[in-house]
Amino acid sequence: MLSAVELSGPELGMIKLMADFFAEKPELVAKIESYTTAHYALTIAYSENFGIPEADAWKMFEELERKINEAEYIHVEAPHPLKKSYAMSPEEINMLRVLVDYFSPNPKMTPMSGFVANRSESIIEAYKWFFGAPKGNGEFVRESFRNLMEKTQTALSIRLETLTPVTTTPNPYKAVLELLQIAGEKLKLDQGIHEVLKRPMRTIIVNIPVVMDDGSIRIFTGYRVQYNDALGPTKGGIRYHPELTLDEVIALSAWMTWKTAVVGLPLGGSKGGIRCNPKEMSSGELERLTRGYTRALARFIGPYSDVPAPDVYTNAQTMAWIMDEYSQIVGCNTFGVVTGKPVCIGGSLGRNEATSRGVMYTVIEAAKHLGMELKGATVAVQGFGNVGYHAARLLHELGCKIVAISDSKGGIYSSYGLDPTKVLEHKNERGSVIGYENCKCLTNEELLELECDILVPAALENQITGANAGKIRSKIVAEGANGPTTPQADEILFKNGVFVIPDILANSGGVIVSYFEQVQNQMNYYWSEEEVRNKLQSTIVSAFKEVSAVAEEYKVNMRIAAYMKALKRVADAMLVRKQNPFVPITSLQGIGSK
Ligand code: NAD
Repeated sequence: MLSAVELSGPELGMIKLMADFFAEKPELVAKIESYTTAHYALTIAYSENFGIPEADAWKMFEELERKINEAEYIHVEAPHPLKKSYAMSPEEINMLRVLVDYFSPNPKMTPMSGFVANRSESIIEAYKWFFGAPKGNGEFVRESFRNLMEKTQTALSIRLETLTPVTTTPNPYKAVLELLQIAGEKLKLDQGIHEVLKRPMRTIIVNIPVVMDDGSIRIFTGYRVQYNDALGPTKGGIRYHPELTLDEVIALSAWMTWKTAVVGLPLGGSKGGIRCNPKEMSSGELERLTRGYTRALARFIGPYSDVPAPDVYTNAQTMAWIMDEYSQIVGCNTFGVVTGKPVCIGGSLGRNEATSRGVMYTVIEAAKHLGMELKGATVAVQGFGNVGYHAARLLHELGCKIVAISDSKGGIYSSYGLDPTKVLEHKNERGSVIGYENCKCLTNEELLELECDILVPAALENQITGANAGKIRSKIVAEGANGPTTPQADEILFKNGVFVIPDILANSGGVIVSYFEQVQNQMNYYWSEEEVRNKLQSTIVSAFKEVSAVAEEYKVNMRIAAYMKALKRVADAMLVRKQNPFVPITSLQGIGSK
């Protein structure tokens, strides 16, 4: 089946720059002539024009080359005088391939490498050499070239259709492995432990039949990944999302492992989810789906083995269904099988807002660290679900000015500040924050690039990437979401002096209070909200201080420091539990185990 993919803005920019090289613009001609290969000239010019590091420009070129070579059809949307949406002819598509190949580090379609006096002629020659001259004459090729130049230079967007499965977003599991590599090297982590930590301990895939409201049966695929249990029973949320992938769940389960470790909880890490669109399902369908998932996983979860919690598009109600179904299977009330339950059936006071309260405590610490005043500080929040709403509310209560909020449909901006509780009322009535009174609309991308003091990404992964990190203008990024920043983006933010509170620390408040819920369920004795808040504050604040001490000592960013702290704890637990086939991390001072 053909899949369609639209080139991103930065990719379109790269194609336009290639075309510009042939328009003989003086500054680009000078650039070409000062480099030995077209590839260097392109990546350097691109990196300078778009503020993207050379390494990322290089990678983007490779990705673009792959997409163009795999495309079956290409459509260009261009303004007058061309038709609005224009399908490229097969000759134009091949010409585009020649053009891209010309800038490749290893050109294959060009009879000679390097530059000839007339650059356009060299492309036409390359086309004839590689594809032959259609209709027997070179003039036809020349015309295809001119058409291609015109279309690419005026294109508003380019859409490809391809038979190859398309991956448009960075794979978060790859990000996990990259960070593990960096932190592992700094820690001089034993090779054996490193190998173990690259993979999940256990992956379960289930297919769940559900009777839909119209009587039909649909099969949904669900996952549960238990990444590592060296420190204790695994713990991690359950996500319902139509684009959920196994790699995403694996990445999330690894992040849970580092998260519980970095804040010193006696727990391992796991994650689960179902590929479904909860927005299109009735409550009854969701209940049957959740109960089916619970039955399929009942042998693998439990208070002493693996404890789920809510995540994107699941909530306290979902947890109540899981707890009820599991209790029926094992034959007694087992409140501790999940956390994030309603308070009336063993939930902890303060769990609902715990992730965001943790975000707030870490923002307070970061502001102290930077000598920044929080009263009146401007805040933009991406994502307005559980984490985003409570983070906006708590920072608003602290005296910050919430200037922008978004959800999956888009965002709103007001320089006068927004009241998150009123925005939530609007969202509950209308289904989105869009349309809230006296606000400007903005896209999720624009929200991220706003000039503000604090940015809270609280939606999904891969929001801040190599392509937009250079444009982030906030002083603090507090990662309410898991994995919102790619490793490439991290480097750019660090270089630009943006203080990132990494996800495994910033949003750990949720799992900390989930752990408190487990403890209360086991004691069958419940704490006051004040007690929960105090315990949360002392746990997360001391973790923040430990991580920033490591960052200072090893001159690394907060994320690498958090990974180092977490890895050390997990590795120590693995070492002490097994007959020692591994080399302990003894040489490092300052990274104590708790
Ligand atoms: P949620 O389902 O309550 O809310 C998700 C929000 O994100 C919704 O407002 C949705 O409209 C918005 N959204 C979805 N796609 C978007 C997009 N492309 N752009 C902008 N907004 C988009 O989920 P949540 O529990 O608030 O989780 C949000 C993030 O926080 C996730 O990354 C999750 O893993 C992480 N997290 C949640 C908890 C928790 O306790 N709930 C704990 C730790 C981390």
